[in-house]
Amino acid sequence: MLEIGFVGLGNMGLPMAKNLVAAGHHVTGFDRVETAVAELVDAGGKGAVDVVDAVCNAEIVVTMLPAGRHVEEVYLGENGIVGALHDGCLLIDSSTIDVATARRVSDAATQKGFAMVDAPVSGGVGGAMAGTLTFMVGGADEAFARARPVLEVMGKNIFHAGASGNGQVAKICNNMLLGISMIGTCEAFLLGEKLGLDAQTFFDISSTASGQCWSMTSYCPAPGPVPASPANNDYQAGFTAAMMLKDLVLSQEAAQTATCETPMGARATALYQQMAEAGSDGLDFSGIMRMLRGTF
Ligand code: NAD
Repeated sequence: MLEIGFVGLGNMGLPMAKNLVAAGHHVTGFDRVETAVAELVDAGGKGAVDVVDAVCNAEIVVTMLPAGRHVEEVYLGENGIVGALHDGCLLIDSSTIDVATARRVSDAATQKGFAMVDAPVSGGVGGAMAGTLTFMVGGADEAFARARPVLEVMGKNIFHAGASGNGQVAKICNNMLLGISMIGTCEAFLLGEKLGLDAQTFFDISSTASGQCWSMTSYCPAPGPVPASPANNDYQAGFTAAMMLKDLVLSQEAAQTATCETPMGARATALYQQMAEAGSDGLDFSGIMRMLRGTF
């Protein structure tokens, strides 16, 4: 039974915090949105009035915030987490943020004597509710070993990706590949269609041939072959194109810092940017099929 401070009770954070409560931990949560705090209290957690109140008695702090600037402010800003902690507290940031900020915040926390891991997730809101998230963790071995039992309450697959920031590296490289493969899958189905090949026939062939990939077999952007895919539900998200764009932009920032050429990543970023400019980034990211088809 651990004292856990949880900051960021949004679409992902609230169900994650509820799973920690359900596992018997004492969870004190804070979010700028009061109704989110109230929901945690209804589920058996404790509500905090600010960040300091949420973390001052914690043995472990978990954060689930939108972007790097929120993480930097919540950890290192005035009345931030790092100034309010007990000795020996372990910090887990599960937000998806840029690698440089993740490493900077972790360094600052470490200098103050606190262990910290970056532990971004994949699995979406469904995975957060079901406690089946995949965690990609960056940080020292000891910090990972301490974080693991807490992460196992919220997730099914827990990977140690290496040193601080490497969880974010794994996350953005994976999602850059996903964005690229989704667009490639859309293009293949569209070209096949224009040349007279129906989607189901192409799926049956390619899903057992060398074109096979997750974007095709689990999340097919052409309506029909995979009944549960958003393509069969008017491309309702799922994982929005806006979120895919956020992760692709992070990949391109990281590529620039690392002076690594990622031409396909750059093109995927530009195409999802175009989808956002068309006002369609609330659709599932597989909805880029519609843009490539020319229907918006
Ligand atoms: P969200 O916007 O629903 O939640 C973020 C929460 O942080 C909000 O409730 C907001 O009020 C709170 N917040 C922001 N600044 C704060 C502050 N200073 N103090 C307290 N609370 C503050 O976002 P989400 O969908 O829960 O995503 C969280 C993170 O997880 C993001 O980095 C996202 O990229 C990542 N992620 C999301 C999904 C998904 O499917 N939603 C999947 C994988 C990863």
